[in-house]
Amino acid sequence: MNTERSLKLYNSLSGKKEIFKPLHEGHVGMYVCGPTVYYDVHLGNCRTFVSFDIMYRYLLHLGYRVRYVRNITDVGHLTDDGEDRMAKGARVAQLEPMEVAQKYTVGFHDMMRAFNTLPPSIEPRATGHIPEQIEMVQDIMARGYGYERNGSVYFNVRKFDQENPGVYGHLSGRVLDELLVESRDNLKSQDEKDDPADFAIWMKARPGDIMVWKSPWSVGFPGWHLECSAMSTKYLGQTFDIHGGGNDLKFPHHENEIAQNHGACGCAPAKFWLHTNMLLLEGKKMSKSEGNFITPVQMFTGDSPFISKAYTPMMLRFYMLQAHYGSQLDITDEALLAAEKGYRKLMETNKVLQGLPADATAYDGSESEHDRAILALIEDAYAGMDDDFNTAVALACLNELGSYAHKLANKQLDASAVSPWVLERLKTVFNTFIFDIFGLQDESDAAGDEGTVDGLMALILDIRANARTQKDWGTSDKIRDGLAAAGIAVKDGKEGTSWAKN
Ligand code: AMP
Ligand code: ZN
Repeated sequence: MNTERSLKLYNSLSGKKEIFKPLHEGHVGMYVCGPTVYYDVHLGNCRTFVSFDIMYRYLLHLGYRVRYVRNITDVGHLTDDGEDRMAKGARVAQLEPMEVAQKYTVGFHDMMRAFNTLPPSIEPRATGHIPEQIEMVQDIMARGYGYERNGSVYFNVRKFDQENPGVYGHLSGRVLDELLVESRDNLKSQDEKDDPADFAIWMKARPGDIMVWKSPWSVGFPGWHLECSAMSTKYLGQTFDIHGGGNDLKFPHHENEIAQNHGACGCAPAKFWLHTNMLLLEGKKMSKSEGNFITPVQMFTGDSPFISKAYTPMMLRFYMLQAHYGSQLDITDEALLAAEKGYRKLMETNKVLQGLPADATAYDGSESEHDRAILALIEDAYAGMDDDFNTAVALACLNELGSYAHKLANKQLDASAVSPWVLERLKTVFNTFIFDIFGLQDESDAAGDEGTVDGLMALILDIRANARTQKDWGTSDKIRDGLAAAGIAVKDGKEGTSWAKN
């Protein structure tokens, strides 16, 4: 529709807002680091994925064809004691690593659906791209930036830095000499590296490692950073438009990704690096490994000492929209209560607005003072989104626009004060922002539908129970089979009859 709007994005690489111009006109390639599936996603992860979902939605709204790649990390992400997180999760739960990955991938997808995020165009798994990662190690070695020690392969950071000055450390603002042992790779094999700043791109398996593959160097597994380099190259090309993730990934993950891509092909991977800021809980980063987190399910059920009541996915999504993705966002009960009110008000306002009588009069060229104010606010909402996806600004504009809807509805403002074509535009813009760009859903509608279904099911099961007491098996079976055909399973148990969608 409108790829001419000038989008400005804060590029972490330059530390500045820059005008966004895609490499191929009308197309955007965007890679976002996905979850490590060894545990349930926490709300902090959800904030990051919701933020990129809104960016994805806005780019689509502007008319770009977007290839959005978000990976699933199912191998190679080490804990501080050097153990693969997936394998550790599996060991703790006595499961196959792939069972762990599957379980939490499904859980992650459920959560993404609950938050109404659009699925990415491609969702590649690290374990499904081992040959590509091995090839990348070979490319890096061929260009002289990788060396083998006892079956593991390391990236030679110092050599890379000497030959490509200013690349390593640029994104995270780190000075090479200070980096040393900060990276999250295998501490036990530190001594075999030539330099502590080097990082593993292939690791030889140790006895007991269970997620292993054959490679030219050893039976082992890829370094964590490698998957994103290999998969972004495969699906988006050596150089693409946007790379995203939480800002906790800047170092070492993204820094090492850049080095690997450069090392393999001699060019920079992404033009724009976008980083979401952290969701905090009681002022501290929400983190799985630190144990300071709230799961979305705890939020939805209210089962957490941090909150006084349950909050729905859309209230949380609304809460996230109130802040720019680049600022920290602290979870507090008061703020969530306010977000709940704000979300309900926005949905109600939209209903009031959409219910205002439409006047079919065509645009007659006239503009009232209110028309101008409304059109200016609409432009401001767009300008907010153009300014590095500033949802907070856009939302504030919608709230102001909403006050016109209420004034018109309660006749504080005469209907003739706003031209019919402006009112139509306002209705469209409101719907577009709320549902298409912000990705909110009206939960009052959903609750209404669900309530109706529950009521109907209770009635049907009651009829079936009566038929059964009268030994009318024909009717009882007919109801059960009919429901099965409609995708609803009926289960008779000691506690009575229950139903579930298949
Ligand atoms: P992980 O599964 O830990 O690799 O994280 C998945 C994504 O969530 C990454 O982009 C992280 O940067 C992001 N993330 C992790 N913790 C938080 C947090 N507290 N707030 C926002 N994003 C986070
Ligand atoms: Zn990544």
